[in-house]
Amino acid sequence: MSDNLFELFRSRFPADRSRPFIIVPAGPVFSYGDLEAVSARFAHVLVASGVKPGDRVAVQVEKSPQAIFVYMACLRTGAVLLPLNTAYQPDELEFFLSDAAPAAVICQPGRAEQLAAIIGKTGIAARLLTLGADNTGSLVDEAASQPADFATVARGGGDVASILYSSGTTGRPKGAMMSHANLAANAQTLHQLWGWQPDDVLLHALPIFHTHGLFVATNCVLLNGSAMIFCAKFDAEQVLDLLPQASVFMGVPTFYTRLLTSPRLNADTCRNMRLFISGSAPLLSETFNDFVSRTGHTILERYGMTEGGMFTSNPLVGARKAGTVGPALPDMAVRITDDNGVVLPQGEVGGIEVKGPNVFIGYWNMPEKTKAEFTADGFFKTGDVGVIDAEGYVSIVGRAKDLIISGGYNVYPKEVEDVIDRLDGVVESAVIGMPHPDFGEAGLAIIVGESGRELSAAAVLADLKGRLANYKVPKQVVFVPELPRNTMGKVQKNVLRDFYAEMWK
Ligand code: ATP
Ligand code: MG
Repeated sequence: MSDNLFELFRSRFPADRSRPFIIVPAGPVFSYGDLEAVSARFAHVLVASGVKPGDRVAVQVEKSPQAIFVYMACLRTGAVLLPLNTAYQPDELEFFLSDAAPAAVICQPGRAEQLAAIIGKTGIAARLLTLGADNTGSLVDEAASQPADFATVARGGGDVASILYSSGTTGRPKGAMMSHANLAANAQTLHQLWGWQPDDVLLHALPIFHTHGLFVATNCVLLNGSAMIFCAKFDAEQVLDLLPQASVFMGVPTFYTRLLTSPRLNADTCRNMRLFISGSAPLLSETFNDFVSRTGHTILERYGMTEGGMFTSNPLVGARKAGTVGPALPDMAVRITDDNGVVLPQGEVGGIEVKGPNVFIGYWNMPEKTKAEFTADGFFKTGDVGVIDAEGYVSIVGRAKDLIISGGYNVYPKEVEDVIDRLDGVVESAVIGMPHPDFGEAGLAIIVGESGRELSAAAVLADLKGRLANYKVPKQVVFVPELPRNTMGKVQKNVLRDFYAEMWK
């Protein structure tokens, strides 16, 4: 039997294929029958373009239902989907295309010339196709004359289904190879754990070039054979308009903080909602608590990464604890280790390591890095630092790369940020380690204050001295109107480190 993920999805499609799959607000509705027909047509175009099983198909297009059908077409042809962030510029694209050497590149019609030049420069033999968010482009044109059925290519569970590049928060993005079995395992686990109901409707406002919107959200819907309302991008007012028609919502923490700024967010707008899920970046306890008091809903926070999808989740039934990402998924092992790889007892802070059927098979073109990031007994070193409580709930303390070693002491920025964030007049903060002439490295606190509040660095520092051991207190405080974030709501500490590089020089 083939382990092609598409066949698993298809086994869950509603018998009545006229049932909706993608609902575009104030736009068309695409049924499960449309999904099958359009993805078949796209699959024929890919094959006619020379795409063979195992070949990469790079896709940099605006979010649209057709882009989801491209994902399905790649699965059906046995090709490897390689989604690219729409924000990537020519130099970045040049790196991705020469790294992945795709057999086909699908881009926005308006960027065809630019992409053709990059393909020429890299010397890869890729066929260029275009796809516009309004269902235009050469892919659509060529698909029109193709048959509406396609015999899905058989795949083994270990065959690569996608190469997804990580967000590039800590450096150059790495291509994580996800197999058909990896994606199937995580989708099935999450579908069951989050108690998907036959009539659930997902409100989808995430980008689809990232694991959160592409695999976590879309794969759950496909396994459920139900509908999603598909917003081109996140807009708080639009989400509030649509929430009454939905039962499940997935967002990054910034979605939630923006929803909270609208007076329209209340129990009534959420009356048909069953589940709010958050991830990709830390959800502040304040956001978690504010959301409960405004809507009556407790946000379910979960944790994962490009290299495997989700690893832990707060429970559907049972306590969802603020500031934690919940216990390991039922089919995952999660442990904490010290710098030497020794497993630490419960309650101690260290590196998070994970093992399970969804953990990726390796970094594309980086065999050495892949080897270095797996332990001898098959655990993946996430690069995140965390702690597990007595009930098995994991809390993320930060990233190993963000750890500050000041005067020989380890300082976890998150611990300091949490204390700063609780100070009166502070909205949020980021603490980064910077080279320091005396201490080797020292913490710099970058703080966003409430508007209209005059905060003084001296007062903040004096306050912190009463709340934190001296070595944890940042050496300096600066105020900014907002923190730099990427599309997934992650604070870009590398941008801050570059910006303040000369601070103590
Ligand atoms: P790169 O690996 O390229 O530096 P990245 O790690 O940000 O970028 P992603 O795979 O998109 O790329 O993000 C995974 C990371 O996001 C995790 O390793 C973790 O640090 C963070 N993360 C995900 N969910 C949560 C969460 N609920 N709370 C805190 N951090 C989270
Ligand atoms: Mg990462």
